[in-house]
Amino acid sequence: MKTEPRFLRQGLVLMAWLLFVAVPVQSQARDNPPTSAELKAVVQEAYDKFKDVKDGANANYIPELDKVPSDLFGVAIVTAKGEVFVAGDVDYAFSIQSVSKPFTAALVMQQQGADAIAEKIGVEPTGLKFNAIIATQLIPQVSVNPLVNSGAIASVSMVQADSAEARFNTILDWFNRLSAAKLSVIEDVYKSEAATNQRNRAHAYILAASDRIYSDPMEATDVYTRQCSIGVTAKQLAVMGATLANGGTNPVSKQKVLDPKYVPKVLSIMLTAGFYNESGIWSYTAGLPAKTGVGGGIVAVVPGRMAIVGFSPRVNDAGNSIRAMKAIEFISDKLALSIFGSGK
Ligand code: GLN
Repeated sequence: MKTEPRFLRQGLVLMAWLLFVAVPVQSQARDNPPTSAELKAVVQEAYDKFKDVKDGANANYIPELDKVPSDLFGVAIVTAKGEVFVAGDVDYAFSIQSVSKPFTAALVMQQQGADAIAEKIGVEPTGLKFNAIIATQLIPQVSVNPLVNSGAIASVSMVQADSAEARFNTILDWFNRLSAAKLSVIEDVYKSEAATNQRNRAHAYILAASDRIYSDPMEATDVYTRQCSIGVTAKQLAVMGATLANGGTNPVSKQKVLDPKYVPKVLSIMLTAGFYNESGIWSYTAGLPAKTGVGGGIVAVVPGRMAIVGFSPRVNDAGNSIRAMKAIEFISDKLALSIFGSGK
């Protein structure tokens, strides 16, 4: 049968449309980053939308955290180009707590390679709370992953140093380079946590019983406790996250900090375990690798684009800051930032 010239013509037009119009528009969607004006507006909108939310309560198992003013709330974005957009209490220094964990894991990767973390600690999510002792019994590697307490203590124990002091200073120096700031320990938080961290000491001894800790267990727990007590502002934390978003180069200082080949490794652990037993729902709603801490901070990373930080002291049962979660979810949704989506 002979093809009608009219159909032939229509077929050619359709093919040309697909090739030159539809396909390029689709692939452009991912490369269409939000504008500065959009970022400025969305940060303010997230702040205004959730500023009056009072759900949750300050973490109080570390007594000093209960004293932090509960109404503090800040939202910050730092882009991979170093642009900064902020709203609310973004200059208040809160304790970094578990948000510190992926950054120390990154330091260990930089010193010993990514396999060292996978082999000597593990990278499986637990589906359990950050300090669940039972996780160490359930998972054959014992220390599980570097973002729950036991794995984070193991990760501190792997940082190369001759003494506890040197180990802590190496970590602090690393955080300073990631944040382009001069950070320091909030001494009252450190003292308060050091006096009440029996559970973390138990973790360290369980690791020692299975040869899964790599320096003295009590020394590692103490350095870990200091690390968790480092004060950061939402703005500084957003620069730390933006360094990951920018392939390991700090976009503010322009200093190359982390080897780019380790960035996807760090982000993958953040995606599967950064929210502990809420990692699944977090991935489902925000779709971004992120890390939370009981100090009320959360940093989320949009690879290649930006870091988004929320800070608010009131946390839920999993230890995740409620307003910080809401703000980041809102921003991710509004700007279609989920790593699983195709953009706007
Ligand atoms: N320093 C805290 C602890 O070890 C960190 C917990 C957290 O932020 N989820 O319990």
